[in-house]
Amino acid sequence: MKPTATRKARPASKTANAKLDARYTSPKRLKTIFVGLDHLFPRAECALHHKNPFQLLVATILSAQCTDERVNKVTPTLFAKYPTAQAFAALDPKVLEEDIHSTGFFRNKAKNIIGASRQIVEKFGGKVPRSMEEMLTLPGVARKTANVVLGTAYGIPAGVVVDTHVFRISHRLKLSNGKTPENVEQDLIKLLPEDRWIAFSHQVIWFGRKICQARNPSCAECPLESLCDSPDKTV
Ligand code: SF4
Repeated sequence: MKPTATRKARPASKTANAKLDARYTSPKRLKTIFVGLDHLFPRAECALHHKNPFQLLVATILSAQCTDERVNKVTPTLFAKYPTAQAFAALDPKVLEEDIHSTGFFRNKAKNIIGASRQIVEKFGGKVPRSMEEMLTLPGVARKTANVVLGTAYGIPAGVVVDTHVFRISHRLKLSNGKTPENVEQDLIKLLPEDRWIAFSHQVIWFGRKICQARNPSCAECPLESLCDSPDKTV
């Protein structure tokens, strides 16, 4: 999907990061990283199944501290039972808690899903809003969730999704030394061309699942091995 808006991302965090080593952030090195990721995952997409922006928002809230596979097992029944934001907005939290129990943290997730649905119905005409500023007013929605929905569902590059994989790999590749996901996002926003923001996070998430895993990364299979100085390397 083509970007439909070019709203400038607000700074991800006000805390300045330590200066990055220019050897690791040269355009040539970045290009090599992009080529490697494009070669590995030319059509990387979000793993959460969804048919519209609202379903992606619900699935993303459910995915906190839970695998995408587990969420994908729960959502088909959930979305068949409650097909719209209005249907979720009308729910008793106890009922939704039962439906989403297996995804963990179900009380908080039910509260946030119902709260976000009510706000979407009351303030945004039943549609998930299309800006970071508006997304961040929804209960349970921080920058990561907002970036997932804006980037994947609307094609709007409002920022870069920084999940556990993007956080770890940004450090391993020395693209950031940020201590928080917000600080890593701040570095990536500065480093990456805007038309890479959406694809980069999808590709790095798959790269983290398949090759650059948290424990025992598969460095022998990694096309970025020659430019990686990470102490976590296994070759
Ligand atoms: S060489 Fe290993 S640690 Fe470095 S990016 Fe590749 S898989 Fe990750």
